[in-house]
Amino acid sequence: MFVINETHDSRLTSWVPSANDASCDFSIQNLPFAIFRRSNTDDAFRGGVAIGDQVVDLKLLAETNLLSELAQEAVIACSNSRLNDFMSMGESAWTALRLALSKALRTGSAGQVLMGTCLVPQANIEYSLPCQIGDYTDFYSSIHHATSVGALFRPDNPLLPNYKWVPIGYHGRASSIDVSGQVFHRPCGQTKALDEVEPCLQPCQRLDHELELGIFVGPGNALGKPIPMADAEGHVFGVCLFNDWSARDIQGWEYQPLGPFLAKNFASTVSPWIVTMEALTPYRAPFSHPSDDPQPLPYLSSVENTAQGNISIELEALLQTEKMRAAGEAPERISRSNFIHSYWTIAQMVTHHTVNGCNLRPGDLFGTGTQSGPLPEEAGSMLELSMGGKQTLTLQNGETRTFIEDGDAVVIRGWCKNDNAARVGFGEVVSTVLPARTLG
Ligand code: CA
Repeated sequence: MFVINETHDSRLTSWVPSANDASCDFSIQNLPFAIFRRSNTDDAFRGGVAIGDQVVDLKLLAETNLLSELAQEAVIACSNSRLNDFMSMGESAWTALRLALSKALRTGSAGQVLMGTCLVPQANIEYSLPCQIGDYTDFYSSIHHATSVGALFRPDNPLLPNYKWVPIGYHGRASSIDVSGQVFHRPCGQTKALDEVEPCLQPCQRLDHELELGIFVGPGNALGKPIPMADAEGHVFGVCLFNDWSARDIQGWEYQPLGPFLAKNFASTVSPWIVTMEALTPYRAPFSHPSDDPQPLPYLSSVENTAQGNISIELEALLQTEKMRAAGEAPERISRSNFIHSYWTIAQMVTHHTVNGCNLRPGDLFGTGTQSGPLPEEAGSMLELSMGGKQTLTLQNGETRTFIEDGDAVVIRGWCKNDNAARVGFGEVVSTVLPARTLG
């Protein structure tokens, strides 16, 4: 786990003026990573770090030789079109590059002129997936989500007895994960209404978003070698926003006995920016289970995890309908939550995933599961907000929703802020639903 250092100092300012705005996600204390290129060019995609409304082109920066030693080795790894090599380098390289970038971007830095030649306005770039995602695992770490969804599927038995012992997850599919801006057709699938005798194939009627965080694996582990809690976060590169699109009617018919399948593998969207674990250090918080719940088994427990395993990350989901977009209206917030409500920490997810010897690889992605909080307005999916489709959500323009309609865009935002630290934001992830393709 990282400790607070000079890069977190809230008094630091940058010579990039927009980074110093208190409402800016991309302060000099943040320095998140993405893969990008200039819009409308055939340039190779390359690594970038956000600062204010600009991005540092890390491929150009590598060529300037402004940085040295390990920081230079790290920035060379970031010149690639995927961040996997950089992710695999581990904490010492990540820290060296973060410190070098922080120093070069600070007000009064001697590196300002050279660094200035590497800046590109974020308004003029397009993003790609930050890395090759080999495997994707989706956890289920919000007990509030698990309980309310469980109540809809199994009213008499909402929370299964393993929930408070096992960080529940399933192996998802990486091929349909794309970066923010993803546009996809409403999926078709096999569903069966309760009052029908037989199922049919039709466009999903209950399309849903899931407000999640994504966790990118850094260095992997050898097959057969579990990662203990003490080492778990050393295997985590950083965190992004994640919308894990779900087809609830397909899910309801197919999910037993083996869990989610086609209800979950047609589209999932990550934010372009990955906030590093080091940048999240000032927002760490103690972790505990309620005293009358089972306490984590010893392999899922550590002194560090109890002291600061949690992270306070504010999250919100917004909806922009086609009509709102046409009228030039901004997306409207439909829920707000915080990752601090998670029943399991990131370290526990890593350790549990590997306790049987399963190997993780650089760039693997974990979804945290839908991050619903304890209050109804903190629900991270339409399934919960609409009480399983029974309650209609009315938007400010009078439109109503129970699930996501064609033309709707869902936006997820996230940020960290407290009195002792600068704002560290995630930007946003947006994806838009098109009508189903014609069956045939
Ligand atoms: Ca999910």
